[in-house]
Parts: sequence; structure tokens; C-alpha cells
Amino acid sequence: MPHNDAPGKIMTETSEKSILSSFTETVPCPVCGQWAHTVIKESTYDSHISEQELRKIYCASSDKTLLDPLVRCCGCGLVYLNPRIKQAIILDGYRSAEDPLFIAQNEARISTFTKCLQGIMCRHSISPQTHPAVLDIGCAGGAFPKAASDLGFHPVGLEPSAWMAAQARQRYGLEIRSGILEEADFGDTRFDMITLWDVIEHMADPGQALQRIRSLLTERGVLIINYPDHASIARRLLGFRWPFFLSVHLYYFDPGTMTQLLANHGFQVREIRTHWQKLALGYLLKRASAYFPVVGHLARWVENRRIGRYAVSYNMGQTLVVATRNDL
Ligand SMILES: [Zn+2]
Repeated sequence: MPHNDAPGKIMTETSEKSILSSFTETVPCPVCGQWAHTVIKESTYDSHISEQELRKIYCASSDKTLLDPLVRCCGCGLVYLNPRIKQAIILDGYRSAEDPLFIAQNEARISTFTKCLQGIMCRHSISPQTHPAVLDIGCAGGAFPKAASDLGFHPVGLEPSAWMAAQARQRYGLEIRSGILEEADFGDTRFDMITLWDVIEHMADPGQALQRIRSLLTERGVLIINYPDHASIARRLLGFRWPFFLSVHLYYFDPGTMTQLLANHGFQVREIRTHWQKLALGYLLKRASAYFPVVGHLARWVENRRIGRYAVSYNMGQTLVVATRNDL
């Protein structure tokens, strides 16, 4: 697999020198199970960081640039964080997240999801009649469930942040549950469409999640995943300034590793394509200024002007995957 990263020292076991070690855990590759990896980037955490400060990083739209060590699996080439912050700390952060700035962009997100879902419906012969029951895992402020509901589907949202879930319920009157996939009880309910929008790269154990998702899908069900693609042109051009290099993103899949992960858990990829997203120009510039300080001047200039609210389409490597069970 081609990549631009500087080659690192081959490691067969991970090492962590700082005080952070009590907050971190080492993990094998979730795609091929190997522990051996090359180090791409060392940790840049402040060695005196507290557990409370770490928890703050794990909120929905954290703009904390990547502080964790980044490695590449020697078996399959997956790029991921290792060692990483312990799952319990990460989950505590997500459960207590409150993010009005993220919610404020819901209208643009609903517009993106509506267009995207219409395209999927058309290309894969899906309709509210053939695939009525939808589960959106990690639904944040409910933008996708709202778009799906408006198109005639019957969505259920699942969101770890109690605050986000409450916002989604109040705004749209939809069934939005507060919690995580591992703990959610759906009884005998099965879904015809399960979606993970910008979620799989946050999951501590994506393989286990896919296993559960497969058991929740009807036979004809489709799985839709959107993820930041490490093989994208944007990542290759921007290197470590790629905006998806974040401490909250535990894995950096590409089409090869994503296809393999899905195959390992009983899925066949039907489509992989570039995903275009709409967000307000002012919000995009504000996020970009964390990587490019020069953009900060422009972000401040548009902040209180009409142009700042103008929604623009952009792609920074977001990739859409449509998969089905491989026993069809
Ligand atoms: Zn691997």
C-alpha cells in the first residue's frame, strides 16, 4: 500500500514512557490481529495531563489535533493509534459531551444526508417500502434520523451523549436512545438499514461492533459506513495537517483495510465512493484554523457576516461504503 509517511522503526511490542501509561492501553490490529507495527509518529501529550483533561478530548467535534502515537500494522497496513487512551476514559468523555457548535450545523448535515440517502436509494434499489427500519449508530444531534424520516423511513437513533440525544429528541420528535451499541437492547427488532456516519473510526473495537450489527440486520439489510480515508488525496497532500488526524479517531482505514474488516465479519462491499459533505463556510474555516493559523484571520472576518452561514460542499477524504451480508 503506497504511503507518504516516513518509515519508522519496526516494533514487536509497544512502549510508553510517560506518566500517561496508567491511562493508556496497547492494542493489536483490529483487521488482521497482528501486534507488530512500525511507528509513524510518537506521542505529543503533555506527560502531566490529568484524566479529566483527557476526558474532555472525547467530545463530538473535538478539534484537538492528534496527540497520540500513530502506528502502521506490519500485517495489513492499517494505520491506528497505539498505545491509546483507555476505553473507559474515552466512553466517559462521549457520554458527557455537550456540543452546541456541532448541533448548530444540523441543517447543513440534514441537507447532506438527504442528498446522499437519495443517491443510495437510487443506486441500490432501496426505498422506505423495501427497507423501512433504520438504525443510526452514533447519531449525534439526530441529523441523519431526521433526513431518513423525512424521506419516509422509520429511524431509530443511538447516541452515547445524553445531551446530544435529548437535543435530537426535542428537535425532531424521533426515537433517539441514549447509549452505546454494546449495551443497547433491541429485543427481537431487526433493521433493514444500519448506518455509521463518522463513527467507526471512534469505536474501540470495530470488529465486535460489526459482529453485533450483522446480528441486528435483516437478511436483505444494508450497512452504510462513512469514514475518513487514509488513502485519500487530501490526506496525501496534507500529511499531518489532514484535519481527520485527531485524538478521537482511533483508526485510519483505507478501502483495502475497510473491505477486509467488513469481510472478516460477514459483509460484502457493494460500493465505495467519495462522500461530499455540506457545512457552513464560517464553521469550516473555524475548524481549519486549528491546522492553518493563517485561515484564522479569514474565519474571524466571515464569523459575523452573512457569507459565514453559506453552506459549501467539500471533501477532505470522507469515503462512503455500502455493504450487505455476504451470505446473500
Ligand atoms: Zn493489520
